[in-house]
Amino acid sequence: MLDMIIKGAQVVTPMGAGQWDVGILGEKIVVVSVPDAPLPEAKRVLDATGKIVVPGGIEPHIHAASNVQPGMPESVPGVPNAGPMEHSLGAIWGGTTTVVDFAPVPNEGDLAAGVHDYMAVWLGNSYTDYSTHCVYSSSNTPDAISRYGELVRAGFPSIKIFTTDTKPPEGRIPMSLVAKMDMGRLSDLMAEIARHGGVLAVHGADDEITMYNYLTAKQRGRWDWHNANLIHSNLVEDLAFHRVIRLAERAGVGIYFVHVTAKEGLDAIAEARSNGQPVYGEVLTLALSFERSRYDEDDGMKYHTFPSLKYEKDRLSLWKGLLHHDLTFTATDSGFTTYLDKIAGRNILDMRGGNIGIEIRMGVVYTDAVVKRGMSLERYVDVTSANAAKTLGLYPQKGAIAVNSDADIAIIDPSVKKSLTMNDLHLRDYSPWEGWPVEGWPTTVMLRGKVMVEEGRLLGSPTDGRLLFRKIEPSVLQRPAF
Ligand SMILES: [Zn+2]
Repeated sequence: MLDMIIKGAQVVTPMGAGQWDVGILGEKIVVVSVPDAPLPEAKRVLDATGKIVVPGGIEPHIHAASNVQPGMPESVPGVPNAGPMEHSLGAIWGGTTTVVDFAPVPNEGDLAAGVHDYMAVWLGNSYTDYSTHCVYSSSNTPDAISRYGELVRAGFPSIKIFTTDTKPPEGRIPMSLVAKMDMGRLSDLMAEIARHGGVLAVHGADDEITMYNYLTAKQRGRWDWHNANLIHSNLVEDLAFHRVIRLAERAGVGIYFVHVTAKEGLDAIAEARSNGQPVYGEVLTLALSFERSRYDEDDGMKYHTFPSLKYEKDRLSLWKGLLHHDLTFTATDSGFTTYLDKIAGRNILDMRGGNIGIEIRMGVVYTDAVVKRGMSLERYVDVTSANAAKTLGLYPQKGAIAVNSDADIAIIDPSVKKSLTMNDLHLRDYSPWEGWPVEGWPTTVMLRGKVMVEEGRLLGSPTDGRLLFRKIEPSVLQRPAF
C-alpha cells in the first residue's frame, strides 16, 4: 500500500517532462510510471490534472543562522531578527524544500563540531531540510585552512569566501560573516580543496577598487544610495572573477560565483566554461527582475542587495546566460528586514542588504522564464533545484522526481494568474515584487512525503526540517558538467 499517488499532472523527471503517475511511500518516491499502469493501492490519490509536478526548490544561498546567534543584536530594535523559522516558512510557502545557509569555520577545536554548534539554531525551527556552506575568511589561520578536509568528511563540502569586505570598517555589521579572504589564504585553501574535493562558492568583487570607491564617493557626488552600482561596479566584478578563475585553473578546483550581477562577470564564466574549466554561476531572482534605475525611486533602496543591481544590458545578459547554460542556478541571498528598516539607510555606507525573495523565487522564475521566455520545464527544474543539488552534493536524493529520491515536491498550478500582493506572501511587511504579475504558482508543497502546504493552508511544522549531509560527485568538479 502506497501513501500517495499523484495522478494527472505533467511531471518533470530527469528523463524529461511528460504524463506520469508518481507513487510515494514514506519519505521516498517509489514509483514513476505511465498513466493507468497497474499500481498498488494508495491511502490517498491526489488528482493534479492540469498541474505541473517538479522537485521542491533548492535554495542554495540564505542567511539565517547568523541572524540569531547568541549575542547578535536586533537589527531593528524591538523586531526579532529573521532566523531559520522565518526563512524556512517563506521557503515552504513558495515551493522550496531545501535551503543552504552559512556557518563560519572556527580556528580551534573540532572544526565540524563548531559548524554544528553554529547550526544548532536550526534544530526544531525549520519547515525545510537544510544544510550549510562553511565560510573561511582572512581571520582563519593557515592551520585551520590546512584542516579543510575535516569539513568534507563531516558532510559539508562547500566553502564560501568573499574577495572583499564589501563595506569599509565604519559600515560593517558586527558578527557579520562578510569578511574578505586574502589571495594568499585563498590559494592555500584551493590547494586543500583540490586535495579533498568540494566546491568553492565565491563572492567576487575587487576589494581595493571597492574601498577606493567608498573613499572618493563623497567628493565625487556618489554618496547617496542610488550610486551603489558605481561603488560595487561592473569593473569590480570583472577583475575579481578573472583573478579567482585563474587561481582555480592553476589549482584545478571547481568553483561557482554567487549572485552574478554584471555582463562582465557572466562573460568571464562563459569563457572559463568554454575552456573546459568547472566554473558555475548563480543568479538572484532580484537581478533577473530589476536593474539599477529602480534605485532612483524615492524608496529605491528597497531593491538593493549586495553587491548591487547593474544596468538593463546586464539584466538582459543574465537572462541569456540562464536560458543558454552559462549560468547554472537561481538563488535568493535571503535576509530579512522590515520596510522601515530597509529604507532607513539612505547612503552607500548605511544602506541595507538582504532581500525577501525566498518565497517568490519558484513562482516568479516559472512566470518569467517558462511562461514569458519559453524556457523548457526541464531547464526550469535544472535552474530551480537539480543543478544546485548536483553542485552541492545533494543529487539525486534532492532535485529529482525519480525512484528512490526524497518525495520533495512542488505542484505548480499554471492557471493561477494575478499580481502579487502582500496578502499572497507570508514574510515581513514589504516585497520588491509587490504588484509583480505571475502566471503559475506552487500551490501544494511536500517535504519527504509530508504535505506541508496545500491550497493556501500550512500543514507542516517547524520540527519537520532535517540537517542534510552532502557529498559531491567528482565529475561535477572536473569540467562544466551542466
Ligand atoms: Zn549572501
